[in-house]
Amino acid sequence: MLNIRMRASKKVKSRKTEVVTGKSNINRNSNVDEIHISGAEGIYLCRDKAKIVAEFVRRAMEHSRGEPDTIVVTIEKLKRKPEMISALPVTTLGCKASSGSKDLVRKILLASGISERAIRRGFEILYHGEAMRGASLIRAVSGARAEPDKRRGVRARCFGILASAEKSLSHRLAREGIDTERVKEALTLASKVASSGPVVAEFCVSDDPDYTTGYVSSARYGYVRVPRLKKKGARSGGRIFFIREDADVPALIGFLEDAPVMIHKSSECRSVKSIDEVLRNNL
Ligand code: AMP
Repeated sequence: MLNIRMRASKKVKSRKTEVVTGKSNINRNSNVDEIHISGAEGIYLCRDKAKIVAEFVRRAMEHSRGEPDTIVVTIEKLKRKPEMISALPVTTLGCKASSGSKDLVRKILLASGISERAIRRGFEILYHGEAMRGASLIRAVSGARAEPDKRRGVRARCFGILASAEKSLSHRLAREGIDTERVKEALTLASKVASSGPVVAEFCVSDDPDYTTGYVSSARYGYVRVPRLKKKGARSGGRIFFIREDADVPALIGFLEDAPVMIHKSSECRSVKSIDEVLRNNL
């Protein structure tokens, strides 16, 4: 089996301009910033690699964040056998007004044992921080930020779904009208993250300006989709992994980045539920 990943980016002129004064003239050296356009990855069978690479490249070229000038595809052979896990059950929250969406996320996070302080910190990073390639790690009680590289964050990598599980998952998601690659990939990632142990809950809002549904996921409440988590057209987005206060961060990063994990069983996909139903129905 292979782990295949893609990263697309674009170089733009930095807004910071350095002014260098010489004897008789002034040079303006403008630096270049690299902005993230799109990323994708998964574990696949060797025989599917050409198809997957073509699909990843197509996705990078057509991303609504713009056209990339660099696409990097990495293909690695797995060094060990993947651990098999079940997918988290999927629920969609009924939510009428966009103003209430973040509040629903807050309620689920609080019920998961995450402090107000940590939630505030997470929201601040996600909605007002610099765009990151990976997730921020926030300690669940103190709200302390724990990832070593604040710009990159921590990338969850090395996960996939067996063909039989994907077929059954597609079937279940289709009944709810949400059988898309985006939902399946995010659910696969969230299921690996929730299986890690030290991650109490994850909160994700896509950085795709056209996609405003996010999710909160945890071993306790499953994968809960939350509509209208940002304004259409907004480029903000990000991921927060809320971790146990005493989590061993290097060991957790080792698991998230390098341990191969496959979904071998899909789980229930529920119809739209209210926040009370979600909170009552803990797994
Ligand atoms: P996406 O759902 O792909 O739009 O990603 C939303 C945000 O999640 C990105 O802006 C990144 O900050 C973060 N992110 C994307 N992929 C990963 C990953 N594999 N692991 C951790 N964080 C990620």
